[in-house]
Amino acid sequence: MVHDPAGLGFETRAIHAGQQPDPRTGSVIVPIYQTSTYAQDGVGGTREGDYEYSRTANPTRTALEEALAALEGARHTLAFASGMAATDAVLRTTLRPGDHLVLGNDVYGGTFRLIDKVLTQWGVDYSVAHLSDLDEVRAAMRPETKLVWCESPTNPLLGIADIAALAQVAHVGGARLVVDNTFATPYLQTPIELGADIVVHSTTKYLGGHSDVVGGAVVTNSDELREQLFFLRNSAGAVPGAFDAWLTLRGLKTLAVRMERHCDNAERVVEALTRHPKVSRVYYPGLAEHPGHDVATKQMRRFGGMVSFDHADGERAALDAAAGTKLFILAESLGGVESLIEHPGRMTHASVAGSLLQVPAQLVRLSVGIEDARDLIADLEQALG
Ligand SMILES: *Cc1c(COP(=O)(O)O)cnc(C)c1O
Repeated sequence: MVHDPAGLGFETRAIHAGQQPDPRTGSVIVPIYQTSTYAQDGVGGTREGDYEYSRTANPTRTALEEALAALEGARHTLAFASGMAATDAVLRTTLRPGDHLVLGNDVYGGTFRLIDKVLTQWGVDYSVAHLSDLDEVRAAMRPETKLVWCESPTNPLLGIADIAALAQVAHVGGARLVVDNTFATPYLQTPIELGADIVVHSTTKYLGGHSDVVGGAVVTNSDELREQLFFLRNSAGAVPGAFDAWLTLRGLKTLAVRMERHCDNAERVVEALTRHPKVSRVYYPGLAEHPGHDVATKQMRRFGGMVSFDHADGERAALDAAAGTKLFILAESLGGVESLIEHPGRMTHASVAGSLLQVPAQLVRLSVGIEDARDLIADLEQALG
């Protein structure tokens, strides 16, 4: 799938790219370089590529960046303190006062809040569009549009955008395409290869994979963008600590096997929900009747671990179901080994209420973990009553 000059498979890159044994000790695992500063050869004697100060660079972070770049099939990755720090860096690197961006109608709530409440204060304007409708995207674009911001699959409605087609529309309009690849991960989808200019991650989710670390990353093939992002990150300082970078790198090693199980379990949960009388609609791109199924089949390896559904009896029943599971933990976030359940309207997407983004009140979102699928299905069935 990914072009890789060394011809190595995804699983091999996840474990070896950027992660050679430590040159000093032979440590098989990249050490946690828990240091703020580095001894220099002489005054002003630092050579290009040497470490000086950990806001600028840290070897544990470098290993994470090289590994993630290899998985995305891209030249550059910069790690950030959170997904939102990564998002903020992309927005502030690529947009200036007077510029405009187009974003998906069900973009991550925190991304919408940052654009709607913060970026607009700095003279940036935005439009919302259904990214699955290319005509709507074209109509939303203006001469001053510099970015199209895409998630696919989207959060929480699991909508699918045709990344290759969207890249063309963005480029014809003189804009860059950013893909937030948090839901799919590079195991399922590599947007840079499909024509995206920038990939953003919340590594807090599947890449870290164990709900024990917050982090983010930006991926690009552009040397120029990488320089600008590096300059901003070093100036503003939103870097992850060495331990957080190490935890994320540890998570990356098992990404392929975890994603396979997330997908297996999600498919079985979808099957059970589809025939449940209290479920009026299941949102999953792997379903043949999903409007984005063909595009998803074309651009994704499998369909991921996120599943949403409408409760047939409305909002109150959806809230009760979300609060009524015993194994699925009621919590925000996603992508960890444990299954989570939430009510987007009241939780992750509460900050978009009253805006142009509409999340159904009866919607429940699942992050299907890697437990025994039979236990997960039994838990959902008892919660749905
Ligand atoms: C969680 C998430 C973010 C934000 O990442 P943080 O690590 O929480 O800052 C951005 N986009 C998507 C799709 C997410 O799920």
